[in-house]
Amino acid sequence: MSLTPEQIQTIKTALPSLTENEPMAKHTNFRIGGPARLYFVAQMADDLTKAVQTAVETGIPWFVFGGGSNLLVSDKGFDGLVIQAANRGFSIEDTKVVCEAGAITALVARKIAEAGLIGYEWAVGIPGTIGGSIFGNAGCYGGETKDVVASVDAYRIADGERVTYSNEECRFGYRDSFFKHEQHVILGCTMEFTPGDSAMTVAKLNEINAKRKDGQPLGESSAGCLFKNFAFKDEREIEKLKREVDVPQEMIGAKRIPAGWLVERCGLKGHKLGGVEVSSRHANFLVNDGTASADQVAQLVSLCQMKVRDQFGVSLQTEVQFVGF
Ligand SMILES: Cc1cc2nc3c(=O)[nH]c(=O)nc-3n(C[C@H](O)[C@H](O)[C@H](O)COP(=O)(O)OP(=O)(O)OC[C@H]3O[C@@H](n4cnc5c(N)ncnc54)[C@H](O)[C@@H]3O)c2cc1C
Repeated sequence: MSLTPEQIQTIKTALPSLTENEPMAKHTNFRIGGPARLYFVAQMADDLTKAVQTAVETGIPWFVFGGGSNLLVSDKGFDGLVIQAANRGFSIEDTKVVCEAGAITALVARKIAEAGLIGYEWAVGIPGTIGGSIFGNAGCYGGETKDVVASVDAYRIADGERVTYSNEECRFGYRDSFFKHEQHVILGCTMEFTPGDSAMTVAKLNEINAKRKDGQPLGESSAGCLFKNFAFKDEREIEKLKREVDVPQEMIGAKRIPAGWLVERCGLKGHKLGGVEVSSRHANFLVNDGTASADQVAQLVSLCQMKVRDQFGVSLQTEVQFVGF
């Protein structure tokens, strides 16, 4: 159902700087996505809560995002209010780092390493914002957001309250958090680190940066890893898989099969569908050649899931968030 002229007017009055029919392709790493009917850039935490509150009270669909690096927005776009978290501040005091949700993760990681604090070097290669990294518990190279976040400030939709959640209350899991299950707007967080030597932390950060550039199609339009890796609890769960394919011991030891490895073994690496391709560098990345539609990406996602399920009995879950489908 389309927004009514009255609803649009109410939102425009509350948020005078919003724009209309903003192409989401401009705001996603995939470079894909139709128009946001209403689009608002929140420069401060108060702007974020005001925008969401107004949308809730007006009864219109709304959606908050950060860097757009983990999103697939449909070709028809989003018929509601899209709010970009652009509250980008952060501060470092001794071993404590206070970040706003819209702070750029890679920049925060570099500054933390330069301050000689240990444990966030891995985040230098994560595109997007701190809010997005908390939402999906982003991680790589053995590090995860959950390891550094002490508490998260959020706006709870259920009762319109601002709440501070402890690390435990965030219920972080593999590419998962409480915020994926209970609707909130993440406003910021506090992180805690161990002090160390800045020459070492910066060297480690640079090493991780170089490693990533080697193995992933970073310069191309994608949303990072499309699927979650397949995490299994015990050997029984991978018996079927082992009958089909020789699973390397290190994957069995890690209790996790990389999704890209499964997609590759189905012969889909390099497979093209319209303007989207399973990257020939890393089979868990789907890359847009500049002409792909969201529909084509969704079709290729389905094809990968179907082939992996048929061949290995494994149901691949998407890591990327789908909007407007
Ligand atoms: C080239 C490339 C490499 C990547 N490598 C990795 C990797 O190694 N590891 C990894 O974990 N991820 C990786 N990603 C995925 C992505 O960068 C991370 O998930 C990132 O943390 C998402 O942040 P974002 O701000 O871009 O989130 P967005 O894409 O903007 O949003 C993602 C989700 O978070 C929600 N969200 C964002 N901000 C808020 C907020 N303030 N309040 C409430 N909800 C919010 C959105 O609603 C959406 O559902 C990669 C992506 C790309 C393009």
